[in-house]
Amino acid sequence: MVPQHDDPLKTPVQFVRGVGPQKAALLAKLDIHTVEDLLWRLPRDVLDLTDVRRPEDLEEKVEQTVRGTVVDVDARQVSGGRTLTAVLLDCDGDYVRGVWFNQPWMRQRMLMGQPVLFTGKPKRHQGRWEFTHPQVQWLDDDDSSATQDGPGRILPRYGLTEGLRMHEMRRMTSSAAEGFADKIADPLPATFRATLQLPALSEAIHRLQMPRSMPEYEAARHRVLFDDLFEFQLALAMRRRAWKRQSEAPLLQVTARIDARIRRLFPFPFTEGQNAAIRDVVGDLASGGAMHRLLQADVGAGKTVVAVYAMLAAVACGFQAVLMAPTELLAVQHAETLDAVLEQSRVRRGLLTGSLTAAARRKLLASIRQGETELVVGTQAVIQENVEFARLGVAVIDEQHKFGVAQRARISAGASNPHVLVMTATPIPRSLCLTQFGDLDLTLMTDLPPGRQRVVTSRIAGGGARQKAWDFVKKQLRAGRQAYIVCPLVKGDAEGDAGPRGADDVYQRVIKALPDFQVGLVHGQLDRTDRAHVMDRFRDGELNVLVATTVIEVGVDIPNATLMIVLDAERFGLSQLHQLRGRVSRGAFQGYCFLFSESAAPDAIQRLHALEMSADGFRIAEIDFELRGPGDVLGTRQHGELPLRVADLSRDAEILDAARREAFTLVGSGEFDAEEFAPLKSVVLQRFATVMDLPQSG
Ligand code: ADP
Ligand code: MG
Repeated sequence: MVPQHDDPLKTPVQFVRGVGPQKAALLAKLDIHTVEDLLWRLPRDVLDLTDVRRPEDLEEKVEQTVRGTVVDVDARQVSGGRTLTAVLLDCDGDYVRGVWFNQPWMRQRMLMGQPVLFTGKPKRHQGRWEFTHPQVQWLDDDDSSATQDGPGRILPRYGLTEGLRMHEMRRMTSSAAEGFADKIADPLPATFRATLQLPALSEAIHRLQMPRSMPEYEAARHRVLFDDLFEFQLALAMRRRAWKRQSEAPLLQVTARIDARIRRLFPFPFTEGQNAAIRDVVGDLASGGAMHRLLQADVGAGKTVVAVYAMLAAVACGFQAVLMAPTELLAVQHAETLDAVLEQSRVRRGLLTGSLTAAARRKLLASIRQGETELVVGTQAVIQENVEFARLGVAVIDEQHKFGVAQRARISAGASNPHVLVMTATPIPRSLCLTQFGDLDLTLMTDLPPGRQRVVTSRIAGGGARQKAWDFVKKQLRAGRQAYIVCPLVKGDAEGDAGPRGADDVYQRVIKALPDFQVGLVHGQLDRTDRAHVMDRFRDGELNVLVATTVIEVGVDIPNATLMIVLDAERFGLSQLHQLRGRVSRGAFQGYCFLFSESAAPDAIQRLHALEMSADGFRIAEIDFELRGPGDVLGTRQHGELPLRVADLSRDAEILDAARREAFTLVGSGEFDAEEFAPLKSVVLQRFATVMDLPQSG
């Protein structure tokens, strides 16, 4: 007997026709427990077999598919240093070729005897049909028998677990779709759906699990991806609205006099980008509502100026301001920047880090609470532990890369409701920006201070090239420059030459290799005072070479250091490397960055190549994102992935744009609060209220 459930979708999956207790146990391993779980286990892709042809039936210039087995793979150099990979497919005794230029990794992916599909527009070449850069689908055994069932089919493919075959999974999902898809309620009102030309959700799920035609399948997929992103954007829009509504934020009027007084403190005129950013900020401060702004700019663009301006504006208006850095090193550096800028001024400042003595900390906290200390600089960790301000006007969060949406919420919570300015270390990809920071207003600063030179960047592989790079570095050191040598780890993974080298070990080797120069070592495991001491000696020029881990990654500013060698460079993210090399473009001298990498992995070579070719942090962020995905780019893996169900930000960027537009319009117009959107709102709150700290009332 099938137990009767109030909600049929909550029926245990074993009661779906064709599942049963044994299969249900396997499905449980995939986290599928109820009918609903099974319906929402969407195919990762589909095999479109509606037009699989025999070679003799192929035509020129029409997109078609052939099925065959790999019988020969050949890769060679051709003119212009390009590689040509050619694959021969046996299609039941008839042969077709696939060719690729400059994709040497295709060779590894084409195993002899492997059944595949090629899709593309073939042409005749040397008496044979040839596909240039065809789309490839690798078939597993189940697929390849299914492809012989005959033409005209579209087969969904799923992620599986051991003991579960593809055709079994297909049978179960179709059975669930047949029996239950029509029970799925649609959170979108029919009129809204009609305007956006979206199919009903129940229909979409049915079509995804049992596709009949590619256009239908695509429309269904679009619906599900749209919902995923739309709900996320609605949550962001709600959060933004909540912020805008709590408008007890201080009203800070930056008068012409205040503006002039702040500008006078800097030894240089501001760039166009800085001026535009300051206009945005000043507008926010005087708006009555709290500023929630993200400032994005390339490494070295001078974001600190904007931050300092905002903070001094708060102080000039009688409020306090705080600047939070991710590390102590950076906090100290920011404090020094402020000291330099405020040399002649009476503004009272405090540096709040973990290395204060208990007594000093108590004293500083009291003075912040009483409002005596006007400017506070510190590490995020320390300041988030409930520091009480008398009247906090502006909070700046610097280099906020690894922060999740929820973490950020905590800063603006509490009694006071300060203006918040967030700055990222390097640009982040647009689509990520619209999600991870999608509740913030955005300011882009695309110019750099004058005279900034592009860092000459070069990927170095092989002993000969390494030697040349070292010779070059020595020559520059002799001319008075300084160098960073960056290692991915403090301690190496392996003995000898295998595996990445640790900073400890590299330090010893560099001392031997550069006997004429002074070498220092910094990494995160040194204690604070030792680290600061080494950094000071490097800054003062007593040390010529600094062996370091990525503790130097963000913000460190030493103009005479113009050389950088990154060891095992493939182990770093692209944006991180871009950030690193930003350290050697600070002064009047040409900067050089050598990326040592012996990795032959195609994507490693591709990524380092991108860095050689582009100096544009915005572009590099996009490439990094495409190649490595959001977890690596944002460092969100520690915080869990973005809370998306099926959408993929780099793939679905267009849908994201549409979803964002619709969501912000809907919330902005107030329409979202109408009764007909109540089901949708409850879905949004269910998914995001906790992650994003949303007000339950909407
Ligand atoms: P980032 O945006 O990477 O945080 P910084 O704020 O650290 O960049 O600025 C990088 C360097 O550029 C600093 O040495 C700073 O003094 C200098 N700088 C900033 N703005 C200007 C400007 N308008 N003209 C000249 N130099 C500037
Ligand atoms: Mg900075």
